[in-house]
Amino acid sequence: MKKKYLLAPGPTPVPESALLAMAAPIIHHRTPQFSEIFKEAAELLKYVFQTKQDVLILAASGTGAMEGSITNLFSPGDEVIIVNGGKFGERWGKISEAYGLKAHWLTVEWGKAVNPADVKKILDSNPSIKAVMVQASETSTTAAHPVKELAALTKEKNCLLIVDGITAVGVFDLPMDDWGIDVLVSGSQKAFMLPPGLAFAALSEKAWKFQETAKCPRFYFDFKKERKNLKDNTTAYTPAVTLIIGLLEALKMIKAETLQGVFARHDRLARAARAASKALNLKLLAPESPSNATTGVFVPDGVDGGKLVKYLRDEVGVTMAGGQDHLKGKILRIAHLGYVDTFDMIIAIAAIEMALSKFGHKVELGKGVAAAQQILLEGYK
Ligand SMILES: *Cc1c(COP(=O)(O)O)cnc(C)c1O
Repeated sequence: MKKKYLLAPGPTPVPESALLAMAAPIIHHRTPQFSEIFKEAAELLKYVFQTKQDVLILAASGTGAMEGSITNLFSPGDEVIIVNGGKFGERWGKISEAYGLKAHWLTVEWGKAVNPADVKKILDSNPSIKAVMVQASETSTTAAHPVKELAALTKEKNCLLIVDGITAVGVFDLPMDDWGIDVLVSGSQKAFMLPPGLAFAALSEKAWKFQETAKCPRFYFDFKKERKNLKDNTTAYTPAVTLIIGLLEALKMIKAETLQGVFARHDRLARAARAASKALNLKLLAPESPSNATTGVFVPDGVDGGKLVKYLRDEVGVTMAGGQDHLKGKILRIAHLGYVDTFDMIIAIAAIEMALSKFGHKVELGKGVAAAQQILLEGYK
């Protein structure tokens, strides 16, 4: 027998209450019974997004909300800044170019956060730029970008700040309305503690103005149509009924813990992962601006990161993520977002220590665990 643990940055574990709710027989979506669930979930989403705006619920993975944000707000030829600091930053650019937007690529070294001054420079010399697209948490490099500072740059301009919050919403503080984020997107399989299949998008008043003149082709992801349907507690097309039933359970859990409580837990888990990494001499991938969603570390010299991830997953039963592109085989990403708590971190760190030791790396067993425990004790009342 081998027990399995999922500690990847999406999909993340699903809590029992959501699993049970989703196991109930399917109901029809055009019914008062479903509308009631939908309405409550839509309301709670505003709490988690920290906005007064509607949060659209789409049947798609997170990328669907990213694509919709572009097709609903821009026209071919529109100029945008792409903060490209990893795989997901790159995705903003690829979608933009697929729809004929003119992308100004701002390349950021993997593991680093964008310098707002670099964004300002491009904005100042190109007054026609209509958007800055960025990740709040760039999952591929485990770095967090300075969203608040970027929002200050776009606020007074005819320019939108479009934020991929897919591993940030429900992880750390990202007050959409307070900071002036114009578009905030997320997805179900990360901090929302659900299986993949739902994408979320919230738009500021300023963003909705852009929508009125945007000419990119679109059909399935039609935000105006979705907003109209949302007012009637439904979606334009058949909603992912089962996932929305699970969503309500997950959102109730977040509400009960409170957003501040959720942020504090993620902060504690992230600090524990970083302390353990330090104790084990594992160099952090994003030491200056680490995201509280996932901790990335370089695997020690002489250890094949790809094999380590595979061994942890297939032989040990602990699924974590490796690296992509030039970081392939070089890093390990320990996720701590969503339905994750104290002892999940102990499992993750103990598993890494034991696996490294199996791979012939000299490890003082328990050293990382002890360092994490010191931090995790804060969670004990
Ligand atoms: C997971 C993730 C996405 C979305 O990927 P999907 O596979 O479409 O759900 C986008 N951005 C970030 C930062 C992510 O972590």
